[in-house]
Amino acid sequence: MASDNCIFCKIVRGEAPVAKVYEDEHTLALMDIFPVTDGHTLVITREHAENLFEASSEALQAVAATAKRVAHALKDTLHPDGLMVFQLNGAAAGQTVFHYHMHLMPRAEGEPLALHTRVPGDPQRLATLAKALAEHVSR
Ligand code: AMP
Ligand code: ZN
Repeated sequence: MASDNCIFCKIVRGEAPVAKVYEDEHTLALMDIFPVTDGHTLVITREHAENLFEASSEALQAVAATAKRVAHALKDTLHPDGLMVFQLNGAAAGQTVFHYHMHLMPRAEGEPLALHTRVPGDPQRLATLAKALAEHVSR
């Protein structure tokens, strides 16, 4: 069920700006607008489900498949030392957008661990990354 005021539902409907990396029947991959690290990408479900408990198994499987594709694209494009993959459920766990999504965060050796930042990404950089990643994902 789509949620009128949900930012990710607006992105899915094409009603909000997005630096899109990939999309298929069940998922969308996009650049996080507050990237903790360069290349911080989200994989979201097309269906509106608040969290892991509510999302359908079909959508979750599709997210895993998309995450793998995007992970390879991040590796090939940015050559990070590591890649952190995480997903938060409930405010107590740090969730801030209540529409299921998975984070893919390239990481450099020794970089401090953080889940969020308040510093917005440079829109030009996000667009450039989205384009470069999209080219690698589709290959
Ligand atoms: P979480 O805390 O796991 O719910 O993460 C939500 C993520 O969504 C945060 O990293 C935000 O920076 C990101 N975010 C919020 N609004 C948008 C948006 N319009 N486009 C892309 N990413 C967003
Ligand atoms: Zn939603």
